[in-house]
Amino acid sequence: MIVKDLSNSFNPVPKERRVINKKLLKNKKGICEVCGKNGQTEKHHIKTKGSGGDDTKENLIEVCRICHTKIHSGEIKVNNKG
Ligand SMILES: [Zn+2]
Ligand SMILES: [Zn+2]
Repeated sequence: MIVKDLSNSFNPVPKERRVINKKLLKNKKGICEVCGKNGQTEKHHIKTKGSGGDDTKENLIEVCRICHTKIHSGEIKVNNKG
C-alpha cells in the first residue's frame, strides 16, 4: 500500500524563502544581553562612534527595546571591558 499522505505532510518551502528564513535566524539572536529576556533585540553601541566605537562584536550588544531605552536614559550602564 502506498501512503499518499506523505506528500501532504511534506511541505516544501521555496528556496528563496529558505534563504530569507536563515538570514532572519542569523540576524535575530533574540536574547537580550542585559536582562536575558527572549524577544526582539536591537543592536546597541557600547561605545558610540563619536567616542571611537566601532561596529565590532565587542562594541555591539543585543538588547531588548526596554533595556535599550534604559541604557540611553542612563538607568542601565554597560561597560566595555575588553
Ligand atoms: Zn532587556
Ligand atoms: Zn543604543
